[in-house]
Amino acid sequence: MGGAASVMLSDLYQRELRDLRISVTDRCNFRCTYCMPFDEYVWIDRDELLSFEEITRLTSIFVQLGVSKVRLTGGEPLLRAELESLIKQLREINGLSDVCLTTNASRLVEKAVPLRSAGLTRLNISLDTLDHVKFKQMTKREDLGRVLDGIFAAKDAGFNPIKINMVVERDVNDDEIIPMVDFCRKHHFSLRFIEYMDVGNANAWTSTKIVSKKEILEKIHGVYPTQDGDREKASDPAIRYVFSDRRGDIGFIPSVTEPFCTNCTRVRLTADGKLVTCLFSNDGLDLKVLLRSGENDKSIISVITSLWRKRADRYSDERLRALNSNEGYDPKRQKKIEMITLGG
Ligand code: SF4
Repeated sequence: MGGAASVMLSDLYQRELRDLRISVTDRCNFRCTYCMPFDEYVWIDRDELLSFEEITRLTSIFVQLGVSKVRLTGGEPLLRAELESLIKQLREINGLSDVCLTTNASRLVEKAVPLRSAGLTRLNISLDTLDHVKFKQMTKREDLGRVLDGIFAAKDAGFNPIKINMVVERDVNDDEIIPMVDFCRKHHFSLRFIEYMDVGNANAWTSTKIVSKKEILEKIHGVYPTQDGDREKASDPAIRYVFSDRRGDIGFIPSVTEPFCTNCTRVRLTADGKLVTCLFSNDGLDLKVLLRSGENDKSIISVITSLWRKRADRYSDERLRALNSNEGYDPKRQKKIEMITLGG
């Protein structure tokens, strides 16, 4: 499927379009306080969700524009029925080398084997604590046992490496940094620390809640020394550090204290078909309307091309500048699309 030679498409800061993150549902079975602080949400109507055929067609178009890697997100993507059949369709697109998934692992006991058989290449799992009480406080659910079972089911199914993403929030789970490192070293998972960010408009972010990459690294280095860190590719958000004893690695996604907008090659597609060029955007371009009004691929390519060529997003760079300035940074200065709609 697909197969037209890809073009190199650059934005105003010479950043190419390389990575596509697709939210397949806005629904989630958890209520993590930093992502979905409310108990009730108005969900996207099912008719408004992109079908698997629509997602596959758009992905094929993005591959023609230079994308080689897709990450499926949500909400919780495994709440979308038959996700493995979408993965199979995506794997048939020529030129798409990587189809990854970010999940909370609560459905992996049932889904790990079908996902692997469908051709899923990599798995990232969100897990912020190993403590049952804290897990309930942070997610408003009691599923830690299921999550851990899901992680080990994925390991048994042959996923390797498995990355565990931990958002660290001061006075909430910063006392779990070393226990999480111990757990991941023991079981050969790659732990990624994500600095707490002001995603969406509803979480109670303040800069005092950030635990910086520097602080986390110093804490770990005191127990498990690490070698110098680096990015595998310039466009990788994560900086990776290998333990000096060679028993695994850790990574950091330091969006607040060391932003990486300069090399940001990511674009996001919401579950209802809006194309969003930055995690902190306040709006998206409605591609579903184009699909459902019968536009051909050529005209959709031309719309995406002109959007990307005008792209000037550098939100995290600007936030750092504001945080370091006399005026300071106001996270409410701009309305953003909620993370549950956007995917992480
Ligand atoms: S803030 Fe926007 S432009 Fe900067 S790295 Fe994040 S998504 Fe990319």
